[in-house]
Amino acid sequence: MAFRHNNDWPARTIKADWFDLGIFASTKINYQLISMTAIHNFNAGPSILPKTVFEEAAKAVLNFNDTGLSILEIGHRTHIFQDVMDEARALVKELMQLDEEHDVLFLHGGASTQFMQVPMNLLDDKETSAYTDTGVWSAKAIKEARLFGKVDIVCSSKESNYTFIPTDFAVPNDAKYLHITSNNTIYGTQWQKIPKTSNSLVADMSSDIFSRVLDFNAFDLIYAGAQKNMGPAGVNLVVVNKNILGKVKRQIPTIMDYRNHIREGSMLNTPPVFAVYVCLLTLRWLKAQGGVAAIEKLNHEKAALLYAAIDDSILFNGTAKKSDRSKMNVCFVMTDKSQEEAFLQFTKSHGIVGIKGHRLVGGFRASLYNALPLSSVDLLTELIKTFTPTNA
Ligand SMILES: *Cc1c(COP(=O)(O)O)cnc(C)c1O
Repeated sequence: MAFRHNNDWPARTIKADWFDLGIFASTKINYQLISMTAIHNFNAGPSILPKTVFEEAAKAVLNFNDTGLSILEIGHRTHIFQDVMDEARALVKELMQLDEEHDVLFLHGGASTQFMQVPMNLLDDKETSAYTDTGVWSAKAIKEARLFGKVDIVCSSKESNYTFIPTDFAVPNDAKYLHITSNNTIYGTQWQKIPKTSNSLVADMSSDIFSRVLDFNAFDLIYAGAQKNMGPAGVNLVVVNKNILGKVKRQIPTIMDYRNHIREGSMLNTPPVFAVYVCLLTLRWLKAQGGVAAIEKLNHEKAALLYAAIDDSILFNGTAKKSDRSKMNVCFVMTDKSQEEAFLQFTKSHGIVGIKGHRLVGGFRASLYNALPLSSVDLLTELIKTFTPTNA
């Protein structure tokens, strides 16, 4: 076990409770403890990952699998990384119970790149696509689709600041696909029932991927930026039914054509090696927890606890329609807005970070992704119950 970076790094501070300092013992780095208060990270994205994933990832940066090399400096064509890519793709297939028609890709560019890549591959100039408008991310997907073909917005909750998921809509028969955003990260709404359609179904699952059991084979294309529930920013998961590809007439740039990525086993060019590795660690963790069904149960429990505390309090109100509430992003405001800063400070003093709401909704947003422990939700729930308004 050889480390080559012994004395190169400057002294730095690090949150003691996030790392097992033993990992760094042989690197002679001067880590200083700056905080003994446990951190409870409710960030919306990038967001919390399992502690063991952070530890394993940190190890891999120094010495990957006892190779004496950092994961950051190995060739992506080596068997060392090929194994990572193969296992990550296989675990996605297993955890989502995908059939043989569905292929798994790890691509660059974030979910926003998929806003363009999806219509580029699936929609010809004169053809129509159907989009549901349920939030900012949906609207951004719609904007990009319009560059490639026609877009029929089949429903929208924009008029009510996206507080609900529309149910009453029809999809034109000739629409090449229906696009939904399965969980609306900013507004805290979620499709609790996936619409049935004879058209191809495409979903942006960035903020609820691997959080609940769905019939994933019912989708022809699923995409998700990793940084909400799967890994670090910098990689996308794309699950695609091979049979829907190759139908458009346009020339597709090489790197944008899903078929090329499938042919090359998600190694058409240099993949985001570290990001894929951290995704693999998270997927292994998820499997060890009992898979998607087990984590869904815990996610239900966490969301139910927090929503109950909000509903029981006269000081707080949920912003989303109850039947459409997200189990990943819980949005709430205070009846008396002038108390919001005091509540934020109160939670902060207990180690809670990342609950300030998105500016488009205001108030608070607590993101309860897979890796967030029940104990963090317990604490926030307790603080909601015990907060007493200042100078009231
Ligand atoms: C965060 C998010 C995106 C944007 O992801 P990027 O990786 O930043 O492009 C898109 N859709 C949803 C639902 C999101 O939550």
